[in-house]
Amino acid sequence: MMIPVVEAIQIVRDNVPRLERERVPLIHVLGRFLAQDIVADSDLPPFDRSQMDGYAVKSSDTQPAPVRLRIVGESAAGKGWHQEIHEGEAVRIMTGAPVPPGADSVQQVELTHELKDNTVVELLESVQVGKSIVRRATEITAGEVVLRSGVKINPAMLAVLASFGYAEVEVIRRPRVAVIATGSELVSVDQRPGQDQIRDSNNFSIGAYAERAGAVVDRLPLTGDEIEELKTTISKASEAADVIVTSGGVSMGVYDFTKAALKELGAELFFEKVALRPGKPSVFARLPNGTLVFGLPGNPVSVSVTFNLFARTAVLAMQGASEPVLKTETGVLVKPVKSSADRDTYLPSQLTTNDDGQVVVFPLKWGGSSDFVAFARATALAIIPAGSKVDSDALVKFVRLE
Ligand code: AMP
Ligand code: MG
Repeated sequence: MMIPVVEAIQIVRDNVPRLERERVPLIHVLGRFLAQDIVADSDLPPFDRSQMDGYAVKSSDTQPAPVRLRIVGESAAGKGWHQEIHEGEAVRIMTGAPVPPGADSVQQVELTHELKDNTVVELLESVQVGKSIVRRATEITAGEVVLRSGVKINPAMLAVLASFGYAEVEVIRRPRVAVIATGSELVSVDQRPGQDQIRDSNNFSIGAYAERAGAVVDRLPLTGDEIEELKTTISKASEAADVIVTSGGVSMGVYDFTKAALKELGAELFFEKVALRPGKPSVFARLPNGTLVFGLPGNPVSVSVTFNLFARTAVLAMQGASEPVLKTETGVLVKPVKSSADRDTYLPSQLTTNDDGQVVVFPLKWGGSSDFVAFARATALAIIPAGSKVDSDALVKFVRLE
């Protein structure tokens, strides 16, 4: 039975377990998915902090300006001045330093000059209460959740984790993905294809997409169209892998053995046909030991589309990602396109913007699901619903490729 794309994606989400957590040193968590909420262990700023180099003063002392105040101390970052300041006094202060008690404003150094052997400062302009001070806890209050479980850790988040003392972070273990290219015509990249042979390219694109999604990838030897060989490779791979991604051998040909091999190994097949172009014969299954299998079609473009829709979702959901599915956006189509009658079409496209600032979706000229050279220029897939056509200048949904 052929099922809609959205249903297939939901089936994937429903059947993917979340993997175990592990504690990882902060320097190694970039790109990983948080498995804990991150809580601030201190206020931010932790004290009333000066935003400027200048003088901490009582603002009431600065009216009318100019005015001369006695310099009673200095507050530097890391070495503050913690005595109360009184009427007629000022404390020389640096950016990032604590504002002394009694001061309610900082006048920036550009509007001042020092006199009398640096014991007196003249403020050329008066300063308002609160000026150039970031009050304690105005950004974050201790105990607040600052990052939620399920986010992918980016460089800015490393700063957040470091600030609140997370030398180690709980993340989800990276899924182990085994990649198996099947087809008796395949030779490896370092070989010159003989008669009727081609070089395997799918193992490279699949492996790279899987790594992008956070997986640790194991590329298995090329496997011919021979059911026993296929069974052996798959069952060996399943010993270590959380997910196996095969390509090829899922169509209706006499030598398409992937599904048969999975069935003989006792796998449960969740779906084997999706209303999708390219990528109709996509298989999602689970082996008796729990290893998930994506049997993707062999055509390199179908591989890229189906990996990103289905296998990517699984790899991300296993890591507890809060958004495992490619996000659908809307843009303006530049040329009219037609879908297939009964399948959603995912058209390789490029994105630009027009003068109105709208995203423009430009479907690539391509020769079908084997044209992987054209596909390499795609940055998005335009989604044309089954049985519909979209006119140029009409809005169209798309997903971005990473
Ligand atoms: P299949 O799904 O096995 O019928 O393969 C469909 C098409 O994709 C055929 O033209 C295959 O030669 C090609 N193909 C299959 N596997 C690969 C691969 N690993 N790398 C490049 N092309 C492939
Ligand atoms: Mg084949």
